[in-house]
Amino acid sequence: MDRLNRYLNPIERLGLGEMSYRFPLFANLALCVLSETYAYKIAHNPFIVGVYIIFLNIAFIIYFSFRDGILGGLISAIITIIYYFYIIYTRHYSGQQFASSIDTIIELGLIYILLALIIGWLKQTMDKLIGREANERIWLQTILEQLAVGVIITDNKGKIVQTNRQLENILGVKISKDFVIGKDMPTFPVKENKQPVIPAQSPISQAIKANKPVVGKEFEFERKDGKQVTVQVNASVIKNKKHQVIAAASIITDITQQKELERQKDDFLSMASHELKTPVTSLKMFIDLQRQQLQTKNPQKATYFNERIQDQANRLKELINDLLDVSSIQTNKLRFNKEKFDIISVLHDTVEGLQATTKKNEIVIKGSNSEKVYGDRYRIYQVLVNLISNAIKYSPNSKKIIVSSKKDKKNVVISVQDFGTGINKTQQNKIFERLYQVTDPQEKTFPGLGLGLYISKNIIERHHGKLWVKSTKGKGSTFYFSLPLYNKI
Ligand code: ADP
Repeated sequence: MDRLNRYLNPIERLGLGEMSYRFPLFANLALCVLSETYAYKIAHNPFIVGVYIIFLNIAFIIYFSFRDGILGGLISAIITIIYYFYIIYTRHYSGQQFASSIDTIIELGLIYILLALIIGWLKQTMDKLIGREANERIWLQTILEQLAVGVIITDNKGKIVQTNRQLENILGVKISKDFVIGKDMPTFPVKENKQPVIPAQSPISQAIKANKPVVGKEFEFERKDGKQVTVQVNASVIKNKKHQVIAAASIITDITQQKELERQKDDFLSMASHELKTPVTSLKMFIDLQRQQLQTKNPQKATYFNERIQDQANRLKELINDLLDVSSIQTNKLRFNKEKFDIISVLHDTVEGLQATTKKNEIVIKGSNSEKVYGDRYRIYQVLVNLISNAIKYSPNSKKIIVSSKKDKKNVVISVQDFGTGINKTQQNKIFERLYQVTDPQEKTFPGLGLGLYISKNIIERHHGKLWVKSTKGKGSTFYFSLPLYNKI
């Protein structure tokens, strides 16, 4: 029924730009045949027949010009005119009757053609206008769909007129078209500064009420898939020339990631100050103790506290260096003084230095005696210190740490193995991220800023090498890094 209506109803066809010539051709031929049958077989008064046929012909010409444009109208007009000539020919008109019939056909023909041209032209112009408007609407809709922010457009009562796909992505649900902002309750609870929000507090309804834009509102909610989302909403009203509010629009931006970064920065600041405070407090304490020992002339104890002061000063220096390195990595300013050097001798120096700091652990070296690489000796030393001191730090109940070297065709691979806490599979990739620390509530938390592995990975990658880990929770971890051998570069 719908299809039939779309085929026959000229109004339904407006804007589609579909013109057919077959339908007017066959419909008009059929009308001629019907008229002939009617005139000959049924009607007896030729005058009535004439009026009836002219009336029907005009209706057909108007209909087809409006349905199929100028072409449809002209087809109807021409078939009708030919049919009129056919009537004169078959009725054997002559003399005065013939002349006046020809005059009538010419007059009627001109009127028919004029009708077809005017109505057909009107129809075609309307088609073009409607098509252009539809194109503009599609164009606008395409832009809206591809925006990276969610968009809601409502009428001046808050009833939704238009939304886009990004809005659905952010909210995780489709908003139904009859939803009225400011009146209807969303299916999920929305909070602003941890307080539940009622419909009247939504930016669009506030903007409509106050007749001015509402900007920078932040809302939190939990999506159907369980994800916590924070959005920033800006809403403004749209006015006509008479300054009456005719609609309202709001832009919804997903700022969850931004918020998470802010939170990480805050956490980092409090963690960094806490980490820095510990050595500073100890420094102050050991300096006091050293002064007391100097006053009581106990040089042995004073020397002991002096060493502790050095330890704390070194810890402070390391922390500050880590912070500076991270900011250099971030701004791409980490510089290297590259040279050819023996990585195994650096490894031995590092182990020797670190072994001196721990009595509880035994660090064993295995593998080659000498391997030459090209890089920054100090930075590679820094990586080794980080990996070995992590192995010490995260092995509270085990003694042994094995540092090995191996080489393949192109690279030397150094590994640092411990038998300590180990790392969960899910966390093994994350530990190389900036500020990432495994926080296992069941475990004792270890001091640190979560920067060491991030810096080490950067250093190794800037030397065209790789850093990775293999670990089993509860059994221990092995960190590996590879560097290209000097003669293979
Ligand atoms: P930090 O040790 O200062 O926290 P790192 O970047 O060196 O920072 O390490 C990041 C995280 O990786 C640590 O918080 C720890 O959870 C985990 N990790 C690193 N090395 C080991 C290891 N040898 N054994 C177990 N966990 C480790």
